[in-house]
Amino acid sequence: MKCRRRISAARRLAAATAILWLIQGAFAADVPPDTDAAPVQQPLAILGKTVAPMTTELLYWTPGVAFDGNSIPRGVIVANGANPGPVLCLTAVVHGDEHNGLEIVRRVLYELDPAHLSGAVIGVPIVNLDGFRRGTRYLPDRRDLNRFFPGKQNGSAAARLAHSLFEEVIRSCDYLVDIHTGSFHRTNLPQVRGDLTNLDVLEFARRFGGAPILHNRGEVGTLRRAATDAGIPAITLETGEPLRIQDREVRQGVRAIEHAMTLLSIYPRAADASETAQVYFESRWVRVNAGGVLMSNVRLGELVGQGARLGTVTDPVTNHSTEVIAPYAGRVLGMALDQVVLPGYAAFHIGIESSIEGAKATDAIERSILAPSDPGDPAVDATGDAPAAESSDAEMESSE
Ligand SMILES: [Zn+2]
Repeated sequence: MKCRRRISAARRLAAATAILWLIQGAFAADVPPDTDAAPVQQPLAILGKTVAPMTTELLYWTPGVAFDGNSIPRGVIVANGANPGPVLCLTAVVHGDEHNGLEIVRRVLYELDPAHLSGAVIGVPIVNLDGFRRGTRYLPDRRDLNRFFPGKQNGSAAARLAHSLFEEVIRSCDYLVDIHTGSFHRTNLPQVRGDLTNLDVLEFARRFGGAPILHNRGEVGTLRRAATDAGIPAITLETGEPLRIQDREVRQGVRAIEHAMTLLSIYPRAADASETAQVYFESRWVRVNAGGVLMSNVRLGELVGQGARLGTVTDPVTNHSTEVIAPYAGRVLGMALDQVVLPGYAAFHIGIESSIEGAKATDAIERSILAPSDPGDPAVDATGDAPAAESSDAEMESSE
């Protein structure tokens, strides 16, 4: 009797197990495919090393721009995932005084668990190590590195450094985010910049959540323009001021990149796919017409109407004040910190809503005006070398 009861208990257990299997079978369509059948991520070969799947490694890139016996390597953090996917690259401190990016790269890379990553993420926290150590935007020869990409093997020191980064790191990327800040006592609202007339870039730029998107082809020689020209969709992420680490701006930058990683299916995180950004196809700088002490009346991100008072400039000697008036309506995407300015100083960067058709027309005019030049060495003079960049007005305001 006892024995029969035991058999019937065993039968009940078998029946229950069978039902459980049936229930699991009903939901089988929602279960990820068996990992044995899924494609396997390959080791990632870069910088002369091989990074195994599901690992994060610190590698080194040594551009040949110093004495061979005295070359200083720069750290490159490489996270290779568990499953195949795109390679996302993050670069920072191409301008040596723009520090927020190095902290963004650190947080994004070291918060990743490569076991949950599809594809790879490559971070270069400090590209322009010489400028960084000297606390300046420029290279030791006063050139702006971000005017020399994709570089030249036999060009100037800047062109060689650019060439080395481009060949050894950037060509491994499927997407690129180059992180910058405002330049020269200016600050930028966290924003994405890219050539929105390129559909791949437009698609990529839309992945960064609520950060405003600004259409800008990028000057010749910028890393993002060279990467885009090489078929790698690239954007610039601008956030905050130079020479500072700003926690809020860093967090906004990290959040924007993590949002993009989720929407690109590189890394699973909760992200609101419906979060959309305002797109600005045009932007202009408003300059001050008088010298003196500039005090702003607006905040970053503020919407201003045409005729709005953006700030005042007061002559410290005569006590005469001049108002800075918005010539058009738009959003304050970048602005000068309160400071002493000279007439002509670009103080407020206003994003203007317009159409992509307008942007394309503007670009067509730009292309017809700009003489074609070697993208590795823009504005080459008779010596075959680009002039020192610190005198370039347009460059200082572009902040990239
Ligand atoms: Zn910059």
